[in-house]
Amino acid sequence: MSGPAPRRTDDGSSSRLAQARRRVAAAFAGDGELASAVGGFSPRASQQEMALAVFDTIAERGTLIAEAGTGTGKTFAYLVPALLAGGKVLVSTGTKTLQDQVHAKDLGTLIKALGLPVDSALLKGRQNYLCLQRLSRAEAEGRLPSRQDADHLRAIGRFARLTATGDRAELADVPETAPIWPLVTSTRENCIGQECPRLDECFVYRARRAAQAADVVVVNHHLFLADLALRDDSVRDFLPAADTVILDEAHQLPKVAADFFGTGWSLAQLADLAQDARSLGLAKAAGGAAWVMLSQAIEAAARNLRLLLAEAGLTVGSRIAVDRCPAKAPLGRGVAGVDEALAAIAAAVQANAGRDAELDALGPRLAGLRGEIATWLAALAGSDEAVQEPPAGDEVEQRVRWIAVSAHGAQFHSTPLAPGAAFARAREQQVQAWILTSATLTLAGSFAAFLAEVGLPQARTERWDSPFDFQRQALLYLPKPLPSPLRSDFPEQVADAAWPVIAAAGGRAFVLCSTLRAVERVAARLREAMQRDRLALHLLVQGSSTRRALLDEFRRHGNAVLVGSVSFWEGIDVRGEALSVVAIDKLPFAPPDDPVVEARIRRLRSLGRNPFLEYQLPEAVTLLKQGVGRLIRDERDRGVLMILDERLLSKPYGRIVLASLPPFSRTRDEAVARAFFGG
Ligand code: SF4
Repeated sequence: MSGPAPRRTDDGSSSRLAQARRRVAAAFAGDGELASAVGGFSPRASQQEMALAVFDTIAERGTLIAEAGTGTGKTFAYLVPALLAGGKVLVSTGTKTLQDQVHAKDLGTLIKALGLPVDSALLKGRQNYLCLQRLSRAEAEGRLPSRQDADHLRAIGRFARLTATGDRAELADVPETAPIWPLVTSTRENCIGQECPRLDECFVYRARRAAQAADVVVVNHHLFLADLALRDDSVRDFLPAADTVILDEAHQLPKVAADFFGTGWSLAQLADLAQDARSLGLAKAAGGAAWVMLSQAIEAAARNLRLLLAEAGLTVGSRIAVDRCPAKAPLGRGVAGVDEALAAIAAAVQANAGRDAELDALGPRLAGLRGEIATWLAALAGSDEAVQEPPAGDEVEQRVRWIAVSAHGAQFHSTPLAPGAAFARAREQQVQAWILTSATLTLAGSFAAFLAEVGLPQARTERWDSPFDFQRQALLYLPKPLPSPLRSDFPEQVADAAWPVIAAAGGRAFVLCSTLRAVERVAARLREAMQRDRLALHLLVQGSSTRRALLDEFRRHGNAVLVGSVSFWEGIDVRGEALSVVAIDKLPFAPPDDPVVEARIRRLRSLGRNPFLEYQLPEAVTLLKQGVGRLIRDERDRGVLMILDERLLSKPYGRIVLASLPPFSRTRDEAVARAFFGG
């Protein structure tokens, strides 16, 4: 890599930067600071090159999109230059696993190795921290729907007196999904901020103050994008002050951006609002009984809407665009009923204005919700299309409006069709360096699709292949014949095709399926094969326990076969012999009838573009590469990959998929695949 990138001032900072750049290069050398202070460190040219590219981007306050194959050591490659360049650094990750690893492990190791006086902090979204004000209110009120809720509230009360951070992840006794959590945590809408009597001890504000004071702050994409989308205000306090923004696992950004630049409301939100209005009204307002009736009216309107959705044929699991929705008129009447109930309570809040800060905070919360609902009333009355046309040229505003029905509720979404435009707009408003990195950003070596997705077509791109010897370490086995996803017995065919290699490896296998339904059928067939061949392998199936418990068991047994779906495709690191086979059932295309996918396809077509090549294929390949990436995690790992989908060879795009995978050896011969394990 050539000489140092100049920086913007001439007050001596350019020579300081040149010196820092030399230190970055030297740190990664065979006799450098990392080699002498970090156990197991071995120098890699690609890691050093990436570190220098990151450093130059920081110096220029530019934007770098960097793909670094598994094993490059990209976390060190961005942290070392960011730390040595100085200034404030914001790191955002896609998964909690990586967020914890960067904060608890890598940063500590590097700060020590480089001997830097640097403070770091981990910041989560506000819903992760206890809200002392709401907790006090819930305790004082003492009216909870079930005994279990009351037990959970008592456990949380005890926890609040002991914890230093208020982070709910520290309280294992209360499950993440317990209904009590919304009552004892805050949202941007119901937090009363400066008016709060508990502000000095508030865990949310304490965590933010620590993040503001720290040199390096680790957040996740949900918090980062919620903030950029003006849906939270945690990062905004210090985002402008950051000199360097690093977005790791950047392949997830387009999806997360679509969620956060979207808007919506839900039946659960109505239930929370009714609960808050009842308890605040009874405690702080005049005319207690009326508040019970007013909040019951919201609950009744929400129940009625849920019934109308069922009558319209929207069962649990349905996801449908408004313009495909049957019975729009009755649904419109149901939503109007919700709005009437909200209007009545808004009037009561208005009549009590100035009595209490929390009660007053209900006003803007109701106004925001009613504003969103008003757009839905228009859509359901037919005066608005599901895919809203934006003002000419305004890509940010083009959206699809859709409904999702879940077991206990329903969500009403409005999702942008070009989230990259909103992301790019946010990038423009910040002057610092941005580094977006991941192991999976390219399609057959090209960044074009990703750059379009994040709206940064002019950004500098760099790519470093994995240093692993894939030809020797890994084998791609495509059985003859390959199963056809069109056949009704496809899951059984997948299990049959994968079984001989799984048996030869003695288990140690992940079978990654595209749907939960396929997980059950593949697992059932593998169970039969194990019984038939009297091979007592340990079969683990997604859904039978938590993800973490299944992974722990997988690592412990050493002969396990884990059958899972999408949640096992990413962010999992099983090194060594415990994982030696990865079988993938099919190319993971998003279902084309999903309302957002369908609307994005329609939009690209209307622009004369090719939705398959520009959107569907790149997304599927990114996910596939993540799944494949589970197999070889270090220089000593060996393993066999199977992709059991005939389209890989029968369709023209199969070539693009194969060209996007690491350069494994290949075979179609079962005996060769079995022989990989000496079988
Ligand atoms: S400031 Fe907000 S989050 Fe903190 S205790 Fe008060 S209401 Fe809760």
